[in-house]
Amino acid sequence: MRFHRARLTTGGPAAACVTLCLAFLAACGGDDEGGGGTASATPPTASQPGSPGAATSPSASPRGGRPLAGKVVVIDPGHNGGNATHTAEINRQVNVGNGHKECDTTGTATNAGYDESAFTLDVSKRLRDILVAQGATVKMTRQDNKGWGPCVNQRAAIGNQARADAAISIHGDGAAASGHGFHIIEPAPVAGHNTAIVGPSAKLARALRDAYRQGTGIPYANYIADQGIDRRGDLGGLNLSTVPKVFIECGNMRNAGDAAKMTSAAFRQRMAEALAKGFDAYLR
Ligand SMILES: [Zn+2]
Repeated sequence: MRFHRARLTTGGPAAACVTLCLAFLAACGGDDEGGGGTASATPPTASQPGSPGAATSPSASPRGGRPLAGKVVVIDPGHNGGNATHTAEINRQVNVGNGHKECDTTGTATNAGYDESAFTLDVSKRLRDILVAQGATVKMTRQDNKGWGPCVNQRAAIGNQARADAAISIHGDGAAASGHGFHIIEPAPVAGHNTAIVGPSAKLARALRDAYRQGTGIPYANYIADQGIDRRGDLGGLNLSTVPKVFIECGNMRNAGDAAKMTSAAFRQRMAEALAKGFDAYLR
């Protein structure tokens, strides 16, 4: 989302975005970083900020019918439903590799009040279920929408520790109402941190962009990015990743047309199926 986006305290193009974003859409890029979730294990248990969800893997079976067997995917549902009531926690500054930034942010919502944190978790769960059915081992950075965080650096660490073959952070944007469409955000190189995964992440970005465009019919964003792909160096979740990773802004929650799709459970399933095809294309 745009106007709640966190910013690098060391400055840079993102610093101006909090108040000036609408005037600098092209420079500002899409989402702030999602706040994290209270992560609880897949079986609903008490959540603890910052703790990742348990890995979900299919039962052992022959590879047949499970084309993603042996692959590990980490899904990061942006933000968290409790972030807004934990401002002290989420405003704490964390190192994002090339500066410092808020631990997490609250995200955006549709005009009718459908919260980005709920949207991202729902799409993430749907995507997880599809990938698990295809044989992948999937880990999520949060499992419910009741807590806060994890911080953006921890969201990256969860993917790194899982040695993920691919990771995605799922968001909905909060741009001006006239803007519509989706975009992928790939990492810009941050020396000493993510340089090794910039190339593979760009490949992942293209695979997911193509699959999402084809599977959902949603066009590339008309207010940001180039052909549906943006590149940013201000997102801790990308700066600190040592595994191929991208963000997706699935649509603009402030745009009526995009919001109608994002509010529909059936359409969120379509989004998840499209993303799963993108992972399949990348991982195979
Ligand atoms: Zn977001």
